[in-house]
Amino acid sequence: MSLKKADLIITDINYILTMDKSLTEFNNADIVVKDGRIIDIGKNKKDKYFGKTIIGRNKIAIPGLINTHTHAAMTLLRGYGSDNPLKVWLEEYIWPAEGKFVSYEFVKDGTQIAVYEMLRTGTTTFVDMYFYENAVADVIKQVGIRGVLSTGILDFPTPGAKTPEEGIAKTVDFINEYKNDPFVIPAIGPHAPYTCSPQTLKKAYEVSEKYDVLYHIHIAETEFEVKTVKEKYGKTPVEHLKSVGVLSERTLAAHMVYPTDREIDILSETGVKVAHCPESNLKLASGIAPVPKMIEKGVVVGIGTDGTASNDDLDIIGEISTAAKLHKGATKDPTVLNAKQALLMATRWGAEALRMEDKIGSIEKGKYADIVLIDITEPHLNPLYDPYTQIVYSSKGNDVDTVLVGGEIKVLNKKVLSLDKGYILDRACFWEKKIKGLNGS
Ligand SMILES: [Zn+2]
Repeated sequence: MSLKKADLIITDINYILTMDKSLTEFNNADIVVKDGRIIDIGKNKKDKYFGKTIIGRNKIAIPGLINTHTHAAMTLLRGYGSDNPLKVWLEEYIWPAEGKFVSYEFVKDGTQIAVYEMLRTGTTTFVDMYFYENAVADVIKQVGIRGVLSTGILDFPTPGAKTPEEGIAKTVDFINEYKNDPFVIPAIGPHAPYTCSPQTLKKAYEVSEKYDVLYHIHIAETEFEVKTVKEKYGKTPVEHLKSVGVLSERTLAAHMVYPTDREIDILSETGVKVAHCPESNLKLASGIAPVPKMIEKGVVVGIGTDGTASNDDLDIIGEISTAAKLHKGATKDPTVLNAKQALLMATRWGAEALRMEDKIGSIEKGKYADIVLIDITEPHLNPLYDPYTQIVYSSKGNDVDTVLVGGEIKVLNKKVLSLDKGYILDRACFWEKKIKGLNGS
């Protein structure tokens, strides 16, 4: 029998958790990659192909993880002004620092720190909302990770645009520049219902429809927001956005901490997806999103870290671990959000939230070879009765050993290959000094 050529063969993987619709698993099996995609999976596949090989022994393979909501460049504000009331944190720390420093350079440096951490801990696709998304795109092109990028659009001047119209126009240019790019995936990002007028929300939605891009927005994050929207429009946030006409399968709603039962029905009926950010909601004391209820009602829920100023890390494995435990405690029911569901939030459900389930989110033939191998040789991962449980409750992002994005090796033996750690640390130090000088701390 003649061997077929492959670009990469990962052999003898102890567990392959495909996260496909049937949650198919393989033991002691191989994954074959060609032209950036998975072309074969199963036992003894290595005997049918030739090409570069990675040994998958003592590893669990899972799909590349998906962070459905972050503000990557905020790594530069990680730990800045923590443990203050929200108003103090925003008005005395975050906004002054952003107002003074956010620029192309700031976003580029901050995003490099974020991308390093994301790759190191197994994230292969992230959804971003910030300013100077062209800087984020430049980092992505240099490193090779996938990003769904949206410029934050607000009714007041931002570091990227003086008016919401300018923000929308810049987004349209960005969409045209990166149309059909497999790594930089443009989206539109109206910030929230309390920071965008109905006109801004609507205009942004028209762009989302015309170019068929994701409509990425914060919704119902805090009680303050719900109160503000109710006072202004006489409706709760989801009902208000429904009447404005911006809820559809294209809408990705970050947070959704305070939906009413009626609003959960609206999310389910309109096909809105939710980016659940439990650690940020906890750290900022926003509250606990009713995730088990939303899932039960058929709402697609992905996981997000939010920015590192309110998390303070980008470790998706840690995030699903928090989510799985948080909702058990909140509902007093240990069966809710089980380990499989928690991992689905970070994989296939995340892909569905981005409308990219035909390309990413599971280990299946034809999909992009975005694959993570977790090392299971450490004592804290043994004994091992169930690989899902072990990932969600025992492992940490740092147990990620190997990461492929589009079949390219980005992390190997726990080392990030395509970024210079020394340079990144220098830049972090540079910004730390500048931002420290701001409030004399
Ligand atoms: Zn956010």
